[in-house]
Amino acid sequence: MSLANGRPYLAIPGPSVIPDRVLAAMHRASPNIYAGALPEMVETIWPDLKRLAGTQHHAAIYIVNGHGAWEAANANLFSRGDRALVLATGRFGHGWAESAQAMGVAVELLDFGKSAPVDLDRLAEALRADPAHRLRAVMVTHVDTASSVKNDIAAIRGVLDAVGHPALLCVDAIAAMGCDEMRMDDWGVDVIVGASQKGLMVPPGLGILWVSDRALARCRDSDLRTPYWDWTPRLTGREFWQLWCGTAPTHHLFGLRESLTMIHEEGLPAVWARHAALARAVWTAFDVWGAGNPDIALNVADPAHRGHAVTAARLGAPHATRLRDWLETRAGVTLGIGLGMAAPDDPAYHGFLRVAHMGHVNAHMTLGVLATMEAGLKALGVPHGEGALSAAAAVVAEAAGA
Ligand SMILES: *Cc1c(COP(=O)(O)O)cnc(C)c1O
Repeated sequence: MSLANGRPYLAIPGPSVIPDRVLAAMHRASPNIYAGALPEMVETIWPDLKRLAGTQHHAAIYIVNGHGAWEAANANLFSRGDRALVLATGRFGHGWAESAQAMGVAVELLDFGKSAPVDLDRLAEALRADPAHRLRAVMVTHVDTASSVKNDIAAIRGVLDAVGHPALLCVDAIAAMGCDEMRMDDWGVDVIVGASQKGLMVPPGLGILWVSDRALARCRDSDLRTPYWDWTPRLTGREFWQLWCGTAPTHHLFGLRESLTMIHEEGLPAVWARHAALARAVWTAFDVWGAGNPDIALNVADPAHRGHAVTAARLGAPHATRLRDWLETRAGVTLGIGLGMAAPDDPAYHGFLRVAHMGHVNAHMTLGVLATMEAGLKALGVPHGEGALSAAAAVVAEAAGA
């Protein structure tokens, strides 16, 4: 029988759960886009967006998903034929590289595989191999949503500085923003790419760029820009329509206003700590399920290199796909597919899955996912270690305290 009726839970790494407060803020008649409540409200978004990323510099919003936000960054960063170094630690690093390459950028790719972070020595070597400083930018994913590998952005900046390479440091924080700690200015990041539908808890449709003064100055003459992608009027436009190159994304903006209010009400350190605790609960459950069952394991061995927004794991083919199907049809929970770990027509594909814990997620939601996963493992006869739920509960108890 199915026990799925009730409120469904989409535990995939984006789009994430939309809070009722965000939905309610979007539930309104179309506003005037020339004057009044909408432009006045938008004025209040910029400081909160910058505080979220840890920057005093600039932010721009595009009406796009994450792929569009990549193109927005590329168009402003580069001129045709410019060189860039992309550091890939999962499918999304490759995605950004492909996007830049297709736009005419000469991309040099360093691939660190699917389970490990950027190797800083290899990065230093690649930068030293460019004494003429032809590499214009270094692009890296903060948390790669496919692998759940997290990179140490401050350490990457440290390598650029130690080598004395002037490339702009550009970070895809689409998954991690609002989940993992981000300190753009402290870490010397020049451009951050974000999107609305992950840690920001808003439907897909807003791409966000955070831009340093240095990037703004260095990119004044980039010739990949077309009028829609040019960040200049979005950052400095005198008229409201120029911020969007046309009609504003009216309802998304009201949703974003509410999500930023929620994040800053909770406080960024508390938001980061909540994500860290829920991630640890998920990791602990997998560790127990996998004890004595080598088919079950987290994708990233070292907890220091795991993102806090999503966990990629393997379960042995075809059990990951069977478990995902079981959870959706019997328990009302949808887990993420394994992305970029194996081709969809490869039987190994059915051995990978991802559990999202990003955005509007709390202890009962994450413990609920883990409990229904364990029910599924039992129903399907997948061998697993016993005691995962009480171990995960102990993590939550310790984090939440008395
Ligand atoms: C989701 C995601 C993307 C792609 O975003 P889309 O909205 O699906 O285009 C890119 N990079 C990272 C790190 C992501 O998590």
